[in-house]
Amino acid sequence: MIPRNDSAAFFARALRVMPGGVSSPVRAFRAVGGEPLVFERGVGAYVQVVGGQCWIDLCGSWGVGILGHAPEEVVAAVQETAARGLSFGAPCVPEVELAEAIVERLPHVEKVRFVSSGTEAVMSAVRLARGFTRRNLIVKFEGCYHGHSDALLVKGGSGLATFGNPSSAGVPASAVADTVVLPLDDEGAVDELFQGRGASIAAVVIEPVPANAGLLLQRREYLHALQRSCREAGALLILDEVISGFRVGPRGAAGLYDLEPDLTTLGKIVGGGMPLAAFGGKAEIFECLAPQGPVYQAGTLSGNPVATAAGLATLRALDRPGLYEELERRGARLEAGLRAACTRHGIEATVVRLGSVFWLVFQAPAPRAFHAIEPEGIERFATFHKACLEKGLYWPPSGYEVAFLSVAHGEEVVREVVRIVDESLGELAGAA
Ligand SMILES: *Cc1c(COP(=O)(O)O)cnc(C)c1O
Repeated sequence: MIPRNDSAAFFARALRVMPGGVSSPVRAFRAVGGEPLVFERGVGAYVQVVGGQCWIDLCGSWGVGILGHAPEEVVAAVQETAARGLSFGAPCVPEVELAEAIVERLPHVEKVRFVSSGTEAVMSAVRLARGFTRRNLIVKFEGCYHGHSDALLVKGGSGLATFGNPSSAGVPASAVADTVVLPLDDEGAVDELFQGRGASIAAVVIEPVPANAGLLLQRREYLHALQRSCREAGALLILDEVISGFRVGPRGAAGLYDLEPDLTTLGKIVGGGMPLAAFGGKAEIFECLAPQGPVYQAGTLSGNPVATAAGLATLRALDRPGLYEELERRGARLEAGLRAACTRHGIEATVVRLGSVFWLVFQAPAPRAFHAIEPEGIERFATFHKACLEKGLYWPPSGYEVAFLSVAHGEEVVREVVRIVDESLGELAGAA
């Protein structure tokens, strides 16, 4: 037999040694069918798979890649820093500089601690909130994903929704006994909970731009009402900005909606493509964190020099004047193109978008809460995904996942995306 050196052959090898052939479940294409591609390179708006074929990438490592793949200044920072040592387990220069860069950019963040994943960031922020308030109850929202720590693994977003597990096997009921789940977009549910149990609530954790079960954009008044309820009850507001941080604007969703969270979690963009995340917030709260206070939290690779250098180079690149405005313009153009294509082919669909984050959902009007997402539309996305993939366009492999533009998705790329979507929708309409 001649050994094949292509994507399918590599995935076959992956299947032999890795569960589902992947390191994270949604990557396995179970929600759209077919087999995942094995990547070997990324340049700007494009990814190349083993074997050499290229796709336009709308996944961007699930929102990490706001500068596109392999941005020069970030790669250079990684190379220079790596040559001087990969890990110290001691304070280091880029770590301090990244912390300063974050605190300078986010007025509601006075202190910051680095971790290695968004999961850790939210898990630690929750622990800190519980330690600070000396209360136990945590409130989260249906469809919001906050990583896979036990206490937050309830009704959480794409991977969980696709697999039909409201939570997960292996999480004991006791681990989520102090987690209350509310529907989004519902002030009444918030009021009722706070009236009954307000004095026991340590924190409310929310994605201010819920982007893990579609893009469920929330009303500004709703988010402010939530913040008010927290203040009045002495509960902390934790904004999980792992996706929205440095994505929806230079100050994230807090800046966009004028929110003043007590704690904020960051990930994805802030690590510039390296395994890095952070949680930050008011100095008074951080006095409770070890070594200053009794709430323990630690990490061998936390604040890693290479990862923090990548994050720092990314934040500096994002300072370029007009960058977010440009992303908005490209996003608007893309949105208009996608809408026109849907209309042309008589396809019932909505494009939900905030800046460079967007979601194409095959239902109208757009849902604002998880329970309003129609499974038929999600199934339709699977057919659409396949049609686009065949034509060189790579969407995240689930109808529940949002897509991303990067700085590298120039006008020509946006035009090509619209052309491929138009052709694919034509096929969908023809098959219906
Ligand atoms: C991705 C994500 C997480 C989890 O981050 P990981 O780095 O995957 O652990 C948490 N919260 C939100 C909002 C996310 O989008």
